[in-house]
Amino acid sequence: MFDKGILLIISGPSGAGKGTVVKELMKNDKYCLSVSVTTRKPRKGEIEGVSYYFKSEDEFKSLIDEGALLEYASFCGNYYGTPVKYVEERLSEGKNAILEIEVQGAIQVKERYPDAVLIFLTPESISDLEDRLRGRATETDEVIALRLNRAREEVKLMEKYDYIVLNDLVRNATSRINGIVETEKYASERNKDFPAKFLSEKGVD
Ligand code: ADP
Ligand code: 5GP
Repeated sequence: MFDKGILLIISGPSGAGKGTVVKELMKNDKYCLSVSVTTRKPRKGEIEGVSYYFKSEDEFKSLIDEGALLEYASFCGNYYGTPVKYVEERLSEGKNAILEIEVQGAIQVKERYPDAVLIFLTPESISDLEDRLRGRATETDEVIALRLNRAREEVKLMEKYDYIVLNDLVRNATSRINGIVETEKYASERNKDFPAKFLSEKGVD
C-alpha cells in the first residue's frame, strides 16, 4: 500500500525560508531532495552537485534539448531546472521527492504530474521577508530589491498551490509540511488499486 512516493513542490519568495525548512525536512529519511541545474554563479559556500549543478547557458540549453529537465524557468536573469531522471527514480522507490523551485516551474510540474503536491511557503509579511533577505546577507541591495519585487508578483500566484504554509518558526513549518504529506498519502485518489488488493488473497500489505 502507498508504495509510490509523493512529488512535493516547495515554492515561496526568495528569503521565505525554503532552504532552511527543506534542510529540516531532510533529517527524515522518507524525503529526498532534487538538486537543480542553474546558470547562476555559485554563492560563497555553495557546493557543486550539492547546492546546484552549476552550468553555462549553452550547457543548460543542451539539457533542455535532450529532454533531461522535468521543468525549467528563468528567474531574475538566470535559468533553473530540475533533472527528470533523479526524480522519477526516487518516486518509483517510494521516496517523497522534494523540489524547491519557483512558481513558473511549479505550475509546469503540476501540468505534467497532476498528483504533485504544491506548497507555498511564506513568512507572515513582506517586511518579514525583507528582514530575512537582509539578515541572510547573500545578495546586494539591488538584487534584494529585484527579489522583493518578484515576491509581490509571486504571492498573487498562491492560489495555484494546494497548500499555503506559514513559516513563522522553522519547526512549525516543518511539522505542517510533514502533516500534509502524511494526509496526502491516504488520499483515495492515490490509492485506486486498494479495492483490487483488498479483494485479492494476499490482501493489502
Ligand atoms: P529561501 O531558501 O526561501 O531563499 P532561506 O532558507 O535562505 O530562504 O532563509 C532566508 C533567511 O531567513 C535565512 O537567514 C534563514 O536563516 C532565515 N529564516 C528561515 N526561516 C526562518 C524563520 N522561521 N524565522 C526567522 N528566520 C528564518
Ligand atoms: P536561488 O538563486 O535563491 O538559489 O534560487 C532562486 C529561485 O529559483 C528560488 O525561488 C528557487 O526555489 C528557484 N529554483 C531553484 N531550483 C529551481 C529549479 O530547478 N526550477 C525552477 N523552476 N526554479 C528553481
